[in-house]
Amino acid sequence: MKTGRVAIEGLRIPVHSLNTLVVGSGAAALNAAVSLHDRGQRDIAVVTEDFEGGTSFNAGSDKQTYYKLSLAGGATDSPRAMAEDLFRGGCMHGDIALCEAQGSAAAFYHLVGLGVPFPHDRWGGYASYKTDHDPHQRATSAGPLTSRMMVQALAAELRRKRIRVFGGHPVVGLLTADEGGAKRVIGALALDRNRSRGKQPAFVLFNAVNVVLGTGGPAGIYAASVYPESQTGSHGLAFEIGAAGQNLTESQFGLASLAFRWNLSGTYQQVIPRYFSTDRNGGDEREFLNEHFPDMGRLATAIFLKGYQWPFDPRKVADHGSSLIDILVYRETVVKGRRAYLDFRRNPSGGGTFGDFSLDRIGPEARSYLEKSGALQSTPIERLRKMNPPAIEIYRSHGIDLAAGPLEIAICAQHNNGGFKGGIWWESNIAHLFPVGEVNGSHGVYRPGGSALNSGQVGSLRAAQYIAARYGGKPLSKSEFLAATGDRIREKISLARQMIAGAAAGAGTGKKARRELRERMSRYGAHIRDPKTIGREAGKAWAQLARLKRSLQVKSAADLAEGFKTLDLCLTHAVYLEAIKEYLAKGGASRGSYLVLDPAGALPCPGLGGEWAFALAAPESFVNKKIMEIAIDEKGRVPTEWVDIRPIPPDEAWFETVWDDFRNDRIIR
Ligand SMILES: Cc1cc2nc3c(=O)[nH]c(=O)nc-3n(C[C@H](O)[C@H](O)[C@H](O)COP(=O)(O)OP(=O)(O)OC[C@H]3O[C@@H](n4cnc5c(N)ncnc54)[C@H](O)[C@@H]3O)c2cc1C
Repeated sequence: MKTGRVAIEGLRIPVHSLNTLVVGSGAAALNAAVSLHDRGQRDIAVVTEDFEGGTSFNAGSDKQTYYKLSLAGGATDSPRAMAEDLFRGGCMHGDIALCEAQGSAAAFYHLVGLGVPFPHDRWGGYASYKTDHDPHQRATSAGPLTSRMMVQALAAELRRKRIRVFGGHPVVGLLTADEGGAKRVIGALALDRNRSRGKQPAFVLFNAVNVVLGTGGPAGIYAASVYPESQTGSHGLAFEIGAAGQNLTESQFGLASLAFRWNLSGTYQQVIPRYFSTDRNGGDEREFLNEHFPDMGRLATAIFLKGYQWPFDPRKVADHGSSLIDILVYRETVVKGRRAYLDFRRNPSGGGTFGDFSLDRIGPEARSYLEKSGALQSTPIERLRKMNPPAIEIYRSHGIDLAAGPLEIAICAQHNNGGFKGGIWWESNIAHLFPVGEVNGSHGVYRPGGSALNSGQVGSLRAAQYIAARYGGKPLSKSEFLAATGDRIREKISLARQMIAGAAAGAGTGKKARRELRERMSRYGAHIRDPKTIGREAGKAWAQLARLKRSLQVKSAADLAEGFKTLDLCLTHAVYLEAIKEYLAKGGASRGSYLVLDPAGALPCPGLGGEWAFALAAPESFVNKKIMEIAIDEKGRVPTEWVDIRPIPPDEAWFETVWDDFRNDRIIR
């Protein structure tokens, strides 16, 4: 990496010129950097807004899952079988599914080699269990903080390899050049947080042949979110330069606690806690689920099942299914404006004809599970203590004692299956830009639990393979780089100056703007979607963006990164709402992890008003046969395109042919 300086608009800006810039420091980004280095590309650097920020480092669950090919004992699995299971989730390209399956073992053993403590038996078999949408028992886990352990192992390797890290450097713009009429990424503009102060922004330029984008999911666009607070996402960076998103409508939503953002899945539900709600001031306590279930047995069984049916799924609503609970919590909190809680101190209560709680009243599957786990104690907290003490501990480490009080809950955004489109080497439609990890939208409508982490590792490895093989070489000269990017850099500097100009008067406008867009997204673009309101809300989102571009103010240059982030989030939520609008306009109905209100459909349960009626998207419907792509064009419009779903490619593994192609360098292309 060579470093120089340039003077632009009265600022002296450092320019780092290198082969590949990796943006972000989550599990996917770090693996890209480590894998590039392993393949001989040493002219690289990682730039991140927060080295210990992001989802991988800060999120987990009661047993955080990593999905991989079954590798232990007599397991009869194959990459093709795994690809078929990924593909069956719907709206996922078959070639990508095959790559994720083929690359699974290598990516997994890479982590094992780096020291991630995935459990194995005496003979070296990596035991696994069944997760959701997983017919093959492919899931493994290193505990509640699997992804944090992955980051720690990869970060240690990064240090061993002495790969340069620019911490506290949020990227605020990607830079492109025209190449034969198409766009190619050639670098990025970042802010140096520690040196930006007063009215002086400290910008930093990166002049790179390639950019690997590992900025994670669009967490910051939701008010109700179980993403860690340090993760906000930066999709706006790529939308701004015309990168195409796909399957943006497909995210996962589920029950989580608010005081400390944590998924209430697995044992938290299997111990059957009590759900109740109160008014805003804590009065008028009610066990609001009772009136929508026929009896205590059905209610307690639905709560138990929520443990391994965690993401909201409209297919699991009917017949008092576990996802009915998510609808009722949403109705209680968002529609009625009350507060909902989980209480581990007491069993659900009923009385009268509804019946009181008893472990003899729950379904046989639930009863047998609790029996086998030795968890037939008389209260939820005792059962949790027996089945999963670390689940209590993790709350205690955040100052919350589950034995002492209830947990406030909401239906929260957790993961985006969609994201930016990439080919089989994870390169986007913008040449040399490689979205990896959650920012890459490789998944479809449903995905097996744990496949996000597999996808992040395989995708970043494949991006590194491609870059090392095809996109080596030197970046542009400083003058060529500036000739191509000068206008855009000046535009960003001028935006920064405009944001600082109002200084003190501007305090708080960013916070208010974020609250507005987050509430819009959680109310209209999360797990309950309404064709009647979506157009209006998308319109409001674009109007807010136009307003913010003119008037957003920050207190000083030290807050500029937040200002740029607010604009990024506003753009991102507008594009996401636009995608949902298009999906609904094409007649798209409920699927994945969201419910589309439809007066012609069925009620979730008797007694709920007609406004809650919905129908499931039929397997043969238009939206299930295509993948929606969306991008911002040169004129600022947001066209969508529905593309055919590519099938899983046929087997090509005839050794002599593969060897010939391999020797003649016809594989990576
Ligand atoms: C509660 C919860 C539980 C989960 N459980 C599972 C599970 O069991 N199994 C599973 O497979 N998946 C799970 N997931 C999803 C999975 O953890 C994430 O998809 C994955 O960790 C994302 O990794 P990543 O590397 O793509 O991004 P992240 O780990 O989110 O990293 C993004 C990085 O980009 C940086 N960044 C962002 N914007 C910028 C910018 N402008 N400039 C510089 N840096 C930037 C951030 O600081 C961060 O370092 C879970 C998610 C949550 C929230």
